[in-house]
Amino acid sequence: MHEVSIAQSMLKIIEDESDKHGVSRVTQLHVRIGSLSTVVPEALSFAFEVITKGTVAEDAELNIEVVPAVGRCRNCNIDFKVDSALFLCPECGEIAAEIICGKELEISHIEAE
Ligand SMILES: [Zn+2]
Repeated sequence: MHEVSIAQSMLKIIEDESDKHGVSRVTQLHVRIGSLSTVVPEALSFAFEVITKGTVAEDAELNIEVVPAVGRCRNCNIDFKVDSALFLCPECGEIAAEIICGKELEISHIEAE
């Protein structure tokens, strides 16, 4: 359940931002998760709900967007969507593709009052 520690660091960011902007209540939280990250969205939602009890984010609605991973082939220099554990270039079949996104987990947007 590393979702708990992720939810805790998300809450830390929310609390820092809330302090900075004098926010009393966070209403919406938008998070982007790369499809290659090992985070389970349902587990993250649950962990977030539990740890935000009694905080500014207690009533916040968590919106999770799963972002497809994108790889880049060093041979063809093209970007392509990665949907399996094998990062094969659709043009040349080369495995040595670099993953340019898909592992991220970031707060993209916070709405507050
Ligand atoms: Zn290629």
